[in-house]
Amino acid sequence: MEDINFSWSTICFAGIEPDEYGWNSMKISTLSVVCGTAACNANCPYCVSKMTGMDGIAPDPNWWNLEKACRFADKCGVSTALITGKGEPTLSKHVEEYIVKLRPYFPFIELQTNGIGLSNKEDQLSGWQYSGLSLVCLSITHYDNEVNREIMKHSTPFDIWKTVDVLHEAGLSVRLNCTLVKGGIDSVESVIALKNKCAESGVEQLTLRDVAMPDASENEKTAEWVQEHKLDFVNQLFSFLFKPRHNFLEKGSRITEILRLEHGAIVYDWDGQNICLSNCLTETTNSEQIRQLIYFPDGHIRYSWKYKGAVILWPCSSIGGAAIL
Ligand code: SF4
Repeated sequence: MEDINFSWSTICFAGIEPDEYGWNSMKISTLSVVCGTAACNANCPYCVSKMTGMDGIAPDPNWWNLEKACRFADKCGVSTALITGKGEPTLSKHVEEYIVKLRPYFPFIELQTNGIGLSNKEDQLSGWQYSGLSLVCLSITHYDNEVNREIMKHSTPFDIWKTVDVLHEAGLSVRLNCTLVKGGIDSVESVIALKNKCAESGVEQLTLRDVAMPDASENEKTAEWVQEHKLDFVNQLFSFLFKPRHNFLEKGSRITEILRLEHGAIVYDWDGQNICLSNCLTETTNSEQIRQLIYFPDGHIRYSWKYKGAVILWPCSSIGGAAIL
């Protein structure tokens, strides 16, 4: 891996065109940008950040390396940047600055958030939209506000559907990213009810995702919770719902596969509602496909959340560029 990392950092950031090294055949779908610190106003028992650790966060973002990450992603044909966090990104004072810096490179800029407090921030949301933000991805576990809060342990009440309305009023599209756990969306009926709520509220995209944990967790308690609350039958659930022969589930209902994404997730049209399934069955093992590049505020750029060694660029303030190994 060391050799690969060396060649990637030096090749990519010395101004050589990616095509010369076959980068155009390398599929990268997204640049993920970690914004903010570990601070969060929820306390999800399945929090991936707790399991992968807090490496890479820093109070002052390394803007120099962000610009390099943007240029590289742009050369690889990446059209979407996702502002996310190890904690809750909207608690950071840098959100707008990130959007402004990403805008020249990416037609689509998305923000992943638990949504707490956003329903009172109409002006700020309009400002972010004006600066270039196109979509807000709300993390949920249930369509019922109380059940959702009970699972995600929000510090203050959070109304999913009011927040969706406010985001729409600010001119932003909305994706609901629902993590499937026992006690949350865990049955055919609850998936149908969630889909119907999304359709009523005009949610543009709904993603259903199996709760996940890395191979080695830094937090035993969180890993145990995930093991206990993982749905054993999630793949059967998806098969049952989305195989065409089961379209009798709702009378006259029609589910059509419309897109397979590079990393294996499948997008369906369910009576006009866009719904994406992303689970262990749909992940690719093709080593030529990097799902995402990840920028960390300390300046590291990685291609995996799980492995600290999966680095493309290291921070090196003394020479202000890629590290020379
Ligand atoms: S909202 Fe996100 S960062 Fe916060 S506890 Fe939940 S999973 Fe972790």
